[in-house]
Amino acid sequence: MDQYISRDLIAKVKDEVKVIYYADLLCGACDLASLESPEGIRWIGHCPLRLHDVRMRTFTVGPEANTWYCSGCRHGGDIIALAKAYLRVNDEYAVAQFLVSIPFLRGA
Ligand SMILES: [Zn+2]
Repeated sequence: MDQYISRDLIAKVKDEVKVIYYADLLCGACDLASLESPEGIRWIGHCPLRLHDVRMRTFTVGPEANTWYCSGCRHGGDIIALAKAYLRVNDEYAVAQFLVSIPFLRGA
């Protein structure tokens, strides 16, 4: 990672940008629906990464851990991993693109 994206900034993005809001933006019609599980509420929908057949709901978001995972493409991780996978960019660009949108992706 480039030097001028500080660890503090990365931590801020990971902490403040909610995967569920970003996924909702990316998904559009991916139709995220809530699902009760023993670990709490999860959201499940069609994968926005378009790396595989998306007829199945393989994409899940865990709001409490603020993470995501897709059992179709086996990608997952934090908010930065989602931006990198979707935009096909490096860490620096993924972090930078959130800096202007944090107020909108922070949630209520
Ligand atoms: Zn996927």
